[in-house]
Amino acid sequence: MRGGLNYNIGVEKYSYSEFIEKVRRGEVLKCDIGRGEITGELKNGTRFTTHFIPELTGPELEKELIKNGVRFNYKTPILSEGWQNFLFYLVLPLIMLVIFWSLFIRGMQAGNREAFTFAKSRARKYSPANIPKVTFNDVAGADEAKQELQEIVEFLKNPRKFQALGAKIPKGVLLYGPPGCGKTLLARAVAGEANVPFFHISGSEFVEMFVGVGAARVRDLFEQAKANAPCLVFIDEIDAVGRQRGTGLGGGHDEREQTLNQILAEMDGFDPNIGVIVLAATNRPDVLDPALLRPGRFDRRIVIDHPDLKGRLEILKVHARNKPLAEDVDLEMIARRTPGFSGADLANLLNEAALLAARLGKDKITMAEIEEAIERVVAGPQRRSRVISEKEKRLVAYHESGHALVAKMLPNANPVHKISILPRGMALGYTLQFPEQDKYLLTKSELMDEISALLAGRAAEELVFGETTTGAQNDLQRATDMARRMVCELGMSEKIGPITLGRRHGNPFLGRDIFEDRNYSDEVARLIDEEVKNIIETNYKRAKELLQNNRDKLEKLVQILLQKETLEKEEIDSLLSDGENTEQSQLQ
Ligand code: ADP
Ligand code: MG
Ligand code: ZN
Repeated sequence: MRGGLNYNIGVEKYSYSEFIEKVRRGEVLKCDIGRGEITGELKNGTRFTTHFIPELTGPELEKELIKNGVRFNYKTPILSEGWQNFLFYLVLPLIMLVIFWSLFIRGMQAGNREAFTFAKSRARKYSPANIPKVTFNDVAGADEAKQELQEIVEFLKNPRKFQALGAKIPKGVLLYGPPGCGKTLLARAVAGEANVPFFHISGSEFVEMFVGVGAARVRDLFEQAKANAPCLVFIDEIDAVGRQRGTGLGGGHDEREQTLNQILAEMDGFDPNIGVIVLAATNRPDVLDPALLRPGRFDRRIVIDHPDLKGRLEILKVHARNKPLAEDVDLEMIARRTPGFSGADLANLLNEAALLAARLGKDKITMAEIEEAIERVVAGPQRRSRVISEKEKRLVAYHESGHALVAKMLPNANPVHKISILPRGMALGYTLQFPEQDKYLLTKSELMDEISALLAGRAAEELVFGETTTGAQNDLQRATDMARRMVCELGMSEKIGPITLGRRHGNPFLGRDIFEDRNYSDEVARLIDEEVKNIIETNYKRAKELLQNNRDKLEKLVQILLQKETLEKEEIDSLLSDGENTEQSQLQ
């Protein structure tokens, strides 16, 4: 029935006043209101049309119609549908686009404070008042680095003094070294010592999906820094933007390049005497664009390496400050047991120990929790729930006792501190061996003894069970690596002599991204393989013989280990020393 009016026959024309009169008299049945015209039907069937001006009479008319019970309808919306669609789908987005674009363009313009926030540097600014106060006292060890940075602190404290003397101050200082060794901490300490504002931004925060944003952020950062001088700008993990240009894999390195170029431009652009110093930190100095390291940029470089024994002790002291330690806790002993730990590892260790103590309801941290925490940090948490069969347990016991016994009997192997057949991390059992002090030089006999100890696990399996298992894979790999380095890098093979073969790229302290260039003939390659095999075989034989000749000690160790599951250094020592030192005679 919709729109079912037929206008073709007998249509009356009413004036608007006539129409209204008929409405009021109740003669109108229904009507359709169009744009300026009303068509309708009276109760007696007469059809009619009327002109009217909707703007003037619309609402009034509606009331009148409702009051008198006339059915009515709007023939067309005030705007036609086509027109509405056009507005909605085309014009509106267009307007929005224009608005967005103009804001975006403004955002690109340097120093525009009201611009979109994504163009802002996002650097967290810590002014002296709200710096979470970190000073050199909170950074343990790293004495040389602190000394070098002291000069920067002096300058930031009193730039005028330096300016008056015409002294040239470095604009940029690059801190580099393995992760967790205190680079970020040191940077904050410099700001804390100098008591100046500190702008902290991470390299990855420059890199966003919009091209040009990174560069805008750099501009904004330096703008703010100059306004706050003297101050310290710290760009953490600068390798995220500072990688060598033109080496980007896949797309998206344009953005990084623009950002890097902007950093370079900004660093060239300011006069160091205004009192802005840029500190940067990275784990990967080897991948940095050489342009960053040129004079006038990050020309001062400071290594922050793994802490040595003294450093570890001091770091432990710093992190033990607010923790209640029991009488038996010997920090020096812990430092001795943790070569290779970073500052972050040590902080983590003490925190783990505190958590363990809390879980056990103790009010002080004892050595037991610390022992457990060291092993957790080294090898992952103990897995008590893992079920091992009796046979597997015996196998693991022989394997680990093999390591321990051989390491114990060879004079140049690292001392054994603990053996365990409790599964931990990925390993079914483990033997903890580490030097009494940090070693920077290793002798050939130390390396050979170390390889024997590594192979002894497998040797014990073979000796006792007549077959070998998959458990020795990691041992074999480490032994082979060591042998290969002896031959190729350390010149420790008589047949090949004191030359290095193959050139290794990459940063040795990171142990990553090492590529090898082969710079020797096939013949030499064969010789290398032979020599490596030779070292492995000699040491394997040596380990197996040692075990064979001391089978009684091996059995004793295994029996106790199966009972107790874990043996400490003292127990191992006393267990093995009640026989006399016959083993020395078997060496060489
Ligand atoms: P990086 O920036 O070199 O990766 P961080 O400075 O972030 O390392 O160090 C992580 C945490 O490790 C620090 O917050 C601190 O608790 C601890 N730490 C690292 N080195 C030291 C140190 N030399 N003295 C005290 N604590 C340290
Ligand atoms: Mg850091
Ligand atoms: Zn092993």
